[in-house]
Amino acid sequence: MKKFTDEFTNQFENRELQRDEYLNESDHLIYCTKCHTPRQGRYTLQGRVFMPPIRCKCQQEIYDQEEAKRKLSEKQAEIERMKASGLQDKSLYDYTFEKDTGINPEMHLAHKYLENWDDMKARSSGLLLWGDVGTGKSFFAGCIANALLEKGVPVLMTNFPRILNTLSGMHFEDRNQFIDSLNRYSLLIIDDLGIERNSEFALEQVFNVIDSRYRSKKPLIVTTNLTLEELNNPADMAHSRIYDRILERCAPIRINNRNIRKDNASANLQEAKKILLQ
Ligand SMILES: [Zn+2]
Repeated sequence: MKKFTDEFTNQFENRELQRDEYLNESDHLIYCTKCHTPRQGRYTLQGRVFMPPIRCKCQQEIYDQEEAKRKLSEKQAEIERMKASGLQDKSLYDYTFEKDTGINPEMHLAHKYLENWDDMKARSSGLLLWGDVGTGKSFFAGCIANALLEKGVPVLMTNFPRILNTLSGMHFEDRNQFIDSLNRYSLLIIDDLGIERNSEFALEQVFNVIDSRYRSKKPLIVTTNLTLEELNNPADMAHSRIYDRILERCAPIRINNRNIRKDNASANLQEAKKILLQ
């Protein structure tokens, strides 16, 4: 037994010294010439001495840095994957707070929603962003989507024409599975409610998506050109059961103070005029 231990110990002790190593006379361990900390440990287990290689201080620092870099790039890759899945329309990548021109006075509510995200999520509270065409509702919702995705929260921003297109090509059994899959996202954003077809099939599927989301108790954000008046007074039962569920969980915010697209156009026109007059 003694012989085995000696052989085992020697196996490590006798390893060839690297150029930046020396054998410390006081503890007979291999040390690093740069940081003067050991590159060998010494452990005794059931009478046996083990002297495995360990990282010296400077090796450990390099290791930690590389590990942190690897974790960061893994996290970034994960966020990119989540964005690719959650932001189906590439133009949504640009809907960020950094691009906010400050034209929309309601934008502070988007920041507020994010600040209180944990609470909103726990209460399954969403938003109903309504107002005229071109007032920045999608931008408002897109900023929330991007900010949450950056934090690693799964978000899907989509619209009913896209969902209906997918559902119409599916077998009946697969539809529920697809609708359930939308609830894997912590936040679902339906952009432009009301632009979808009004067919029986469409209304049925819109209800199924909204109802499934409602039952999942996960938040939903809806943007729409419909007025709150229209949502509160639906034309028929098919619409009322959809709108009721939305109004129960989504806090209405009117977004209509300035017409952003119109302002953009006039700014463009100003620029064009300037160029032409030069
Ligand atoms: Zn070292």
